[in-house]
Amino acid sequence: MITKTYVLDGLELPVEIRRNRRARRITLSIDAQTGTPQLVIPRGTSYAEALKFLHRESDWILNKIDELPPRVLFEDGAGVPLLGRKCRIRHLPLLPPEVCREGDELVVGGRDKDVKYRVTEWLTNAAREKLTELAQQKMRSLGRSSAKVSVRDPKTRWGSCSEQGYLSFSWRLILAPPSVMDYVVAHEVAHLNEFDHGPNFWLLVERLCPRHRMPKHWLTRHGAKLLRYG
Ligand SMILES: [Zn+2]
Repeated sequence: MITKTYVLDGLELPVEIRRNRRARRITLSIDAQTGTPQLVIPRGTSYAEALKFLHRESDWILNKIDELPPRVLFEDGAGVPLLGRKCRIRHLPLLPPEVCREGDELVVGGRDKDVKYRVTEWLTNAAREKLTELAQQKMRSLGRSSAKVSVRDPKTRWGSCSEQGYLSFSWRLILAPPSVMDYVVAHEVAHLNEFDHGPNFWLLVERLCPRHRMPKHWLTRHGAKLLRYG
């Protein structure tokens, strides 16, 4: 992958360009976190053709970027919701390089350029702990024993469940209200018994998370905001 800067409608924009042998046509998407346009070029298509395509789609690109929620970088002073509670990052470079929660502050020590990494790591660990606890609780109520939970940073879904029974979740759920995390865990745990989204599946979700309509709605309305942190 290469990143090049192009001027689209008078605006300078970095664009990530990648060749993919298996792609059937040129595709264009916008990275949900960084807002960077991503151009995929299939075999047999020249750069010149792909660039023509990029310029032709400049209105679409700029509209999409405009529609993104504001980006929140993990840096001193940034507001970070923690399970629905507003917290603020406080960077104190003279403190040891770690993160400490003190009331509504996430106090981060160490070098400036490591703040983003440290906060992300701390949030990921906090999310893993909470998600594992919730998954275990819900699995026990289904008579299942242990949960194999991993935490990642997927861009298009909040959780997934493999046929082998592995559950995987987005660490960004720690930035949503607790009921949202509860619903996503219930949804994936329900998939351990019911693989599709049929009526039996939703009955099971209802049992594991009785008030799941609100959090579902919350994710549709606000989910994109979660992807803009970091
Ligand atoms: Zn599902």
